[in-house]
Amino acid sequence: MSTIKDLKPALVWNNFYQLTRYPRPSKHEEKVREFLLKWGKEHKVETFADATGNVIMKVPATPGYENRKTVILQGHMDMVPQKNNDVKHDFLTDPIETWIDGEWVKAKGTTLGADDGMGVAMAMAVAESKDLKHGPIEILITYDEETGMTGANKLQPGVLKGDILINLDSETEGELYVGCAGGMDTEGTGRYTKVRRPKGYQAYSLQVKGCQGGHSGMDIILCRANANRIAARLTDVILAKTDTKLVEFTGGNMRNAIPREAEVLLYIKDPSKVARVLRKAGLQVLDEFAQTDPDMSISLTPAIFSKGYVKDDEARALVNAVLACPDGVERMSQTMPGTVETSNNLAIVKIAGGKVAIVTLMRSFIDSAKVALSRKIAAVLNNAGIKTRFVGAYSGWAPDDKSVILRVMKESYKKLYGKEPEVMAIHAGLECGIIGGIYPGLDMISCGPTLKSPHSPDERCYIPSVQKAWDFLVEVLKDIPER
Ligand SMILES: [Zn+2]
Repeated sequence: MSTIKDLKPALVWNNFYQLTRYPRPSKHEEKVREFLLKWGKEHKVETFADATGNVIMKVPATPGYENRKTVILQGHMDMVPQKNNDVKHDFLTDPIETWIDGEWVKAKGTTLGADDGMGVAMAMAVAESKDLKHGPIEILITYDEETGMTGANKLQPGVLKGDILINLDSETEGELYVGCAGGMDTEGTGRYTKVRRPKGYQAYSLQVKGCQGGHSGMDIILCRANANRIAARLTDVILAKTDTKLVEFTGGNMRNAIPREAEVLLYIKDPSKVARVLRKAGLQVLDEFAQTDPDMSISLTPAIFSKGYVKDDEARALVNAVLACPDGVERMSQTMPGTVETSNNLAIVKIAGGKVAIVTLMRSFIDSAKVALSRKIAAVLNNAGIKTRFVGAYSGWAPDDKSVILRVMKESYKKLYGKEPEVMAIHAGLECGIIGGIYPGLDMISCGPTLKSPHSPDERCYIPSVQKAWDFLVEVLKDIPER
């Protein structure tokens, strides 16, 4: 029976096989780092770990190519450790067992680690190959990409000298990534005045449930319902048209997920009137979101609680703030049509126990657009007496239509395969965004062979795409222009 060591291109698959022998879940990269350093020594490639644990290799140009621009090949050494329940596997000690299923390489009930073992294996193959033609090359193998991009974040300026960075962590052969979004969190905090439960009012719970939710970056373009916004909209109508007191408002629980549920506790004087108002407003909402959120439900049910309510004018101001806070797509990209440039996810709202907490996650290709959006959010929240802090900022990677590596890659791809590659940008974070923030002016692109279902035990690598991605990389390195 054949194993992955028999596959072509041999250097790439052999290196990948060796990587499967060394445990490398995120935050436990010691063994694979040691292997990479040893591998460099054995292959007479200048190899070292930087101060924080990224592995760097330097490969001199082949004769006649010394004047070419220096290319950084980049991948990450860690992998996501996921397994099926019925599989016995210890990611800290056991090697990944692979098998060939037709045109796919898979692991036996675990993640395969082709994300990004395949990118690292390709870079190593370039370093050890004797018959390629290329200018000076640096290889950057980061750690802990999957749970915080720590290696990229801790990379020091000045360690790398390259002009161009080719990230080998994309998941579809024939697609080139030329941009990614940066991010920043809003943390809004405040207090409100609690008033004792009034006589003659009944306790009710208004619930918005069953919204589709989704990833706050990738799915924001779908314009799905945000449960916080829906709940605020309904509460606004109820407070305006009936004698009702806001008691608590809670919705959403993760900053990077579009909120699917929200609950508002109310003291209601005339429940049948509120029910009438809510029926009309609720049906309108369900109708508006029938395509994106067919399972959304809105309910108002009697509840048992006895808490202070939010003083009337403060309740109005807080609901207004949730209503008016920017949410969803702020602007579409002007350089990458069909891609979101800037967005905000109004992720978590908690008005309870005398305290207010609001969390949002902004994303943008363009750092200044993200800052402008943060000013808008601050303006709305500050007006309602909510203090704002903006934390956890990381840089975006704006598509650059003057990119040299993009032009070279398009031409090389066409020469090899007779068609243009797809050029795309992603409204979520990639290591390129962070590295570009540390090395401004670096000309970057991302590509790689085809993987399916990464981060799950179904992760698999499409064998023919590895040869194509390799031939493409070899061609591109030959075509890099002079500095
Ligand atoms: Zn990856």
